[in-house]
Amino acid sequence: MPSETNVVDSVDKELFIGGKWTRATDGKTFGVRDPATGDVLCQVADASPSDGVAALDAAVAAQDSWANHPPRERGEILHRAYQELTSRVDELALLMTLEMGKPLAEARGEIGYAAEFFRWFAEEAVRIDGGYATAPNGTGRFLVAKQPVGPSLLITPWNFPMAMGTRKLGPAIAAGCTSVIKPASQTPLCMLALAQILANAGLPQGVVNVLTTTDSNGVMEPLIRDGRARKLSFTGSTAVGRTLLEQCSEKVLRTSMELGGNAPFLVFDDADLDAAVDGAMLAKMRNIGEACTAANRFYVQRDVAEEFSRRMADRMGAQTIGRGTEEGATVGPLINEAAVSKVTDLVDDATGRGAKVLTGGSAVDGPGHFYRPTVLADVPTEARMAKEEIFGPVAPISVFDTEDEALRMANDTEYGLVSYLYTSDIKRALRVAERLEAGMVGLNQGIVSNPAAPFGGVKQSGLGREGGTVGIDEFLETKYIAVAT
Ligand code: NAP
Repeated sequence: MPSETNVVDSVDKELFIGGKWTRATDGKTFGVRDPATGDVLCQVADASPSDGVAALDAAVAAQDSWANHPPRERGEILHRAYQELTSRVDELALLMTLEMGKPLAEARGEIGYAAEFFRWFAEEAVRIDGGYATAPNGTGRFLVAKQPVGPSLLITPWNFPMAMGTRKLGPAIAAGCTSVIKPASQTPLCMLALAQILANAGLPQGVVNVLTTTDSNGVMEPLIRDGRARKLSFTGSTAVGRTLLEQCSEKVLRTSMELGGNAPFLVFDDADLDAAVDGAMLAKMRNIGEACTAANRFYVQRDVAEEFSRRMADRMGAQTIGRGTEEGATVGPLINEAAVSKVTDLVDDATGRGAKVLTGGSAVDGPGHFYRPTVLADVPTEARMAKEEIFGPVAPISVFDTEDEALRMANDTEYGLVSYLYTSDIKRALRVAERLEAGMVGLNQGIVSNPAAPFGGVKQSGLGREGGTVGIDEFLETKYIAVAT
């Protein structure tokens, strides 16, 4: 296993612009902290708005030649990057755990998941298709071509610092788009490591440019309003997504928005309860509950509610809290103190309205930002946590009697990313899955993410899809050529 100091030292901490590692113009840097200890791991370059313009200049300069690069070669570069990611899984996982906090086993899982986006889009690069048709009156022909959208701005969150990057960079690179990518300031190191991996794989200068900054709005808004970038792909909160959509309206940028969630998890009384509890643990505790796909509300049919709640409390109470690097730790720290305060407020609000604490219910004293795995029963629908993303290890359970009531509660949210459903009745499964207002449904399974499947939400959870055969379309324009015959 590589040492912590070595993996942090091995990452270049400067901006990656036009294929070169560059200091921020004013020489500014910012500290990256380990959320398990609060200690500063290292300093990275803090881009200013003029660095942003330099990155967009580089992406614009590289666009034509990258669009004309043979698709097979674009795919082969992604494939080499996939191979390097998988061959360095241990050191990259450690880097991720240090800056983001998730347990090492989960970080390893994310490196594998992230790498798979490169493998998938390496294969998609050579399958960009078009069309040829005879006009209905028989006197003309239609040619339909798919072309790269053009220079793209990509913004990613801290919770999956590698996979959210490859989920955007994979299709952008495969489609022939250049990009400027900005990772979250809490977790810049994974993206910097990824830039080096892409350079090692032979990606030409300027195709991917990385900006690390504490001034997200100051650096990105001028690029969005600049007019040369043709696309914004964002993953993050719905609140920030709304602001960015407004900014994009000025130059009518194409947008892809992967936003927040508030996933319901329905357990019917005919469900396999062992499978439902296993699935609930995955849906809740993956990434310490800090996932857009995290089950945020558990609705359980009355006859099995007590048994389900008891088993969940046993499983959650048996988790091991610790720094993600510690042997056996299953629950790492939340990203920062603000996250702990938010979870604390939401739990206090629910208990103040009558919810019962079955296990957990409080933060762990510092150092680090830990919250105990928590199960709450009898959570009323007016509780704030029924409406807001908890983003922490808290499972609120409420009871329902009928299928209609379950659906009403599940759909009573502005979000629509994913819903989970446990039942052994296939007719009910299909009926309920069709009526759930969500872009994705986990049917008797607690994880839906897969690079080969279309990931995305409806309602205020987003626009567009990432992954699957449609993922590359987000970076392609359709051009129709009318041919006289
Ligand atoms: P966030 O606060 O919205 O930030 C996301 C990214 O946007 C970060 O890089 C952030 O940088 C940047 N940002 C913030 N304000 C900006 C602005 N005005 N202009 C340009 N960039 C700006 O979200 P987060 O707390 O990092 O991530 C958690 C959220 O992401 C949750 O709501 C979660 O559900 C959602 N998420 C969704 C998906 C999905 O696929 N649907 C996947 C993962 C996460 P700084 O923080 O450095 O300012």
